[in-house]
Amino acid sequence: MAVRPITTLGHQILRTKALPVDDQTLASKKFKTLITDLVDSMQAARGIGIAAPQIGVSLQVAIINARDGALVIVNPRITKTSFRTTSAEEGCLSVPGVFGLVRRPTTITITYTDEHGKSVRIEASGLLARVFQHEVDHLNGILFIDKVARLTQGVLS
Ligand code: ZN
Repeated sequence: MAVRPITTLGHQILRTKALPVDDQTLASKKFKTLITDLVDSMQAARGIGIAAPQIGVSLQVAIINARDGALVIVNPRITKTSFRTTSAEEGCLSVPGVFGLVRRPTTITITYTDEHGKSVRIEASGLLARVFQHEVDHLNGILFIDKVARLTQGVLS
């Protein structure tokens, strides 16, 4: 178990498109350690999701703290978004103390590889869809503050 420091606004890695994970990397011991560290760091920071660049690793991997445990998503791609959008408050471990309303598609279809190398395709809506989109943005160098419509007080904090 290792909790790694969270990179914050100003670090170039947060603005860099992360590299795809290849099969060899996915099968490596180093990758398993990365997954454990991501989960540990997310839990220590009490986040609901975390992307690898947030602990200084520019790889397309993120963890989503879903209802039935931590979901590992590798090389995710959002393939479908609903026309309908929802506005809700977001925050980010990498932008501490800042919260704001972000409008995003309500329902999405996402495909990714799990930690065992299996392809997964799921439809998500509500908070889960929002967290997926927030984390996929991280892997593309995008932060929620780029999309915020209005800053808020942070009821989620
Ligand atoms: Zn974030």
